[in-house]
Amino acid sequence: MYIIQKPKKSLGQNFLIDKNIINKIIEVGNINQNKCIIEIGPGNGNLTENIITKKPKKIIAIEKDYKLSFFLKNKFKNYKNIKIINKDILKSIDKSYSEKNITIFGNLPYNISTKILVLFILLKKWPPFYDSLILMFQKEVADRIIAKNKTKAFGRLTVLSNWRLEIKKHFDISRNCFYPKPKIDSTLLSFKPKKNNFLKLKDPKSLEIVTRLLFSNRRKMINKSFLKLFNKKLHLVKNLNIDFKKRPEELNNETFYKIALEYERLIG
Ligand code: SAH
Repeated sequence: MYIIQKPKKSLGQNFLIDKNIINKIIEVGNINQNKCIIEIGPGNGNLTENIITKKPKKIIAIEKDYKLSFFLKNKFKNYKNIKIINKDILKSIDKSYSEKNITIFGNLPYNISTKILVLFILLKKWPPFYDSLILMFQKEVADRIIAKNKTKAFGRLTVLSNWRLEIKKHFDISRNCFYPKPKIDSTLLSFKPKKNNFLKLKDPKSLEIVTRLLFSNRRKMINKSFLKLFNKKLHLVKNLNIDFKKRPEELNNETFYKIALEYERLIG
């Protein structure tokens, strides 16, 4: 494979070089001519060139590295349906895209993978502008996203992700499939936005506040965090039915959503 420059660690550049895995990832997307694809961090374009063969309506590839984006513009100059944008994905997520049937692919840069996912979850407009996300995470992060409660991996990321997204684990990917080889394996997950079957909140931020506070004291009973959250209004909290002696990881996802709802009713 042709590498145009020394991979940059600061941009999480680990390029996927295993053709078989690239094919498997693309298959998960079920791409057809009606679909519009947004790719986060296309890098050398290994996934991109495979996406092109499926002939989607449009591909928007957002790459922060100027040199790589320049390289890609040249590489794909003969394709009318692909647009390479040299931007930081964290600064271009919230702009609404007018296209329909958007699938977002990304072999995400490790250092900002959870930040990107949380942005996709907490969008103001819901259902959001995308139909599905097909994202690769370091395995340990994927394990936290799909964790069950009462396990160590269960936490803020689990609660936030499962609130508005239907999550599916596809497969693990060995570190050997990348250049340069990272220290850890990866996992491919896909997500679909829930339409109505989730607890509606006025402002998604309240779930962020609730989870951040409760999980900042993982080892402690939740009564302390509740006092911090609700203060003098603690006695007004209802509909929760929880044992305040429990630790946050013993609660289930649904309970966190109800706590956020109470937080909005009494404080937010
Ligand atoms: N998809 C390619 C590259 C993955 S490496 C492959 O699988 O081979 C991650 C890519 O994300 C790199 O190309 C890196 O330059 C890019 N990147 C890192 N931070 C980014 C950001 N904030 N916005 C957009 N792209 C970013």
